Amino acid sequence: MAKIQMKTPIAELDGDEMTRILWAVIKEKLLEPFIDLKTEYFDLGLKARDDSDDKITYESAKAIKRLGVGVKCATITSNAARMEEYKLKQLTPSPNGIIRAELDGTVFRKPIIVKNVKPAVKSWEKPFIMGRHAYGDIYKSCEMYVDKPGKAEIVFTDENGNETRKTIMQMKEPGIIQGVHNLDKSIENFARCCFRYALDEKVDVWFATKDTISKTYDGRFKEIFQNVFDSEFKAEFEKTGLTYFYTLIDDIVARVMKHEGGILWACKNYDGDVMSDMIASASGSLSMMTSVLVSPDGCFEYEAAHGTVQRHYYRYLKGEKTSTNPVALIFAWTGALAKRGELDGTNELVDFAHKLENSTLTLIEDGIMTGDLKALAEPAPKEILDSWEFIDRIAERLAKSINAAI
Ligand code: NAP
Ligand code: MG
Repeated sequence: MAKIQMKTPIAELDGDEMTRILWAVIKEKLLEPFIDLKTEYFDLGLKARDDSDDKITYESAKAIKRLGVGVKCATITSNAARMEEYKLKQLTPSPNGIIRAELDGTVFRKPIIVKNVKPAVKSWEKPFIMGRHAYGDIYKSCEMYVDKPGKAEIVFTDENGNETRKTIMQMKEPGIIQGVHNLDKSIENFARCCFRYALDEKVDVWFATKDTISKTYDGRFKEIFQNVFDSEFKAEFEKTGLTYFYTLIDDIVARVMKHEGGILWACKNYDGDVMSDMIASASGSLSMMTSVLVSPDGCFEYEAAHGTVQRHYYRYLKGEKTSTNPVALIFAWTGALAKRGELDGTNELVDFAHKLENSTLTLIEDGIMTGDLKALAEPAPKEILDSWEFIDRIAERLAKSINAAI
């Protein structure tokens, strides 16, 4: 059987601990036997990042921008304990934070649905995709506790020193004050990423804020979304039969609980933080959640939503074959390969990615899975495998489905 050829490489960002172990197995068993895999490899393992003073992380972000598609393994964000464990020179910032800032991207998270892991909400049949604005609001706020009466004000000073003032509260007793901001450009990019991603996934877009209460702040979000939609996306949405719907955040929460899913839910920063955890946990498990960072100029970085699964790694180091779920990592690869194929016009690559996804999902749906899904599966699983056996069984199915198609 001839291997599938790739026209353009993918930026490959390797990572840490258990996910790094599984990364190599996935490549060896599920990708390299079928594809003449072309990647530009960057080792984002903690030690390599430290040794290069994070240069490697910036280089990998540049490669994603240059190549248009990247795939990333989970990575350790260093802290005091990791500094000791890995004998690091310095504490480095989160690689995801660096890459997100370099790409000015928006993060989309989507649960991977299988028939035998039922969502907690009965009406959900298709995944809800969460689009979270990753800039500003309370994540870049200024706060103050005041212990006596006084006047709390917002003051804006322009470049010429002219001040605009508004009274927040004439405070008669101790209390708390908070100042937040966002930027038109960041909101515009967020809106653009959401509409573009929705066209890509062929789903409607829902967006909500609390503009009835926050008329200027949330009102600006609403206005910018509408402007970006009308001027850049409306025609294409109409052509593809998709819609954009704006409502209030409390209304959307009520609707989501009765909806069948299959929409992109665009969220302000805090709403996205809270609601994406709710969607992930109610849909099944973190090990079944994909994540993709999309830049406003159309670059894509695919990864698993979970971390490096440290506890399993320590068991692995003691010689145990762990039952770590590789599905989100496999889907990071299939997402990247399908996007590469789509951008390069190599249909075999897109087709391969779908076959690999299908082989993975049908195996689980036939009752063969990793240990984390045991408690969630209905009916009870037939076989619980370790990660290596599970990947081997996917490889068998994949080979069969590819041979059947020849
Ligand atoms: P984690 O790696 O997501 O794991 C937390 C727990 O969730 C695991 O101990 C395991 O539970 C379960 N789990 C997660 N993924 C699983 C999978 N694929 N299969 C089976 N079980 C899975 O989070 P963490 O332990 O808080 O973080 C570990 C490291 O990951 C940290 O150094 C952090 O900086 C990093 N991190 C990286 C990213 C990223 O690169 N995107 C994201 C988050 C965290 P049980 O132990 O109960 O089986
Ligand atoms: Mg959260």
